[in-house]
Amino acid sequence: MKHMNRQSPLLILAAGVCLLATAPFGLGEDLAQEQHYGYTDTPLLPGTQWRVSDINRPLPPVVDPGPETPPIAPPSDAISLFDGKDLSQWRNVKDNALDNGVINVKKNGEISTKQEFGDCQIHVEWATPAQPDGDAMIWGNSGVFFLGRYEVQIIQTRIYADGICGAIYAQTPPLVTAARKAGEWQTFDISFTAPKFADKKLLQPAYFTVFWNGVLVQNHTASLGPTKHRALANYEDQTARGPIMLQSHGSAVRFRNIWVRPVSTAN
Ligand code: MG
Repeated sequence: MKHMNRQSPLLILAAGVCLLATAPFGLGEDLAQEQHYGYTDTPLLPGTQWRVSDINRPLPPVVDPGPETPPIAPPSDAISLFDGKDLSQWRNVKDNALDNGVINVKKNGEISTKQEFGDCQIHVEWATPAQPDGDAMIWGNSGVFFLGRYEVQIIQTRIYADGICGAIYAQTPPLVTAARKAGEWQTFDISFTAPKFADKKLLQPAYFTVFWNGVLVQNHTASLGPTKHRALANYEDQTARGPIMLQSHGSAVRFRNIWVRPVSTAN
């Protein structure tokens, strides 16, 4: 931090103790704050006082979600996308991608489902590297993308509020951070409602409800449009169905046990 030179050693010590006390899960606040991630020159997010990926937006509280769970079996009507053995539902899978029942998106690169989905419920199990494998923007960075474009963020560190894990990236921070320790298996259970269009007009935005390790972190959150970086999302692209994509963002994030239930909308 640039201003630290002006602080007394005692203040710095106190700040360090506070940081340790408020970041029991290795959330990388120290890494993130040293680098001062986030922006001050991006557009305002509608209905808020905050800019896209605002450096000053407060981070949400941290809650302990409890210990790791074994893989959660799919219900009988789910489509298994990955059961630790079979990656045939995915595009861009390299030879030897399977490593002890997991896929590592740094080694393999991003993967997308062959099947396209609209409204759906998905269960995803993932783990960030136990130790930093890059700076605060890299460590644990991945993401679950709907329609190939709408990201629910995965990352180890707490960078800017709308860029941390469980965020609708560059739009809406999670209600809380419900992380387990780096390296432990974690879960996302997501209900995604695809945007609806008619006559080239938006009828209804996309919505996300996200449970992270069983804890509600997005509650029917409306999306502003497909994910953008440093810019305001919009619905110029009127895609309403697409693949589920797991992002590769330079970190060895692992995935196991992924299943999806397409949701048909009642008329
Ligand atoms: Mg990401």
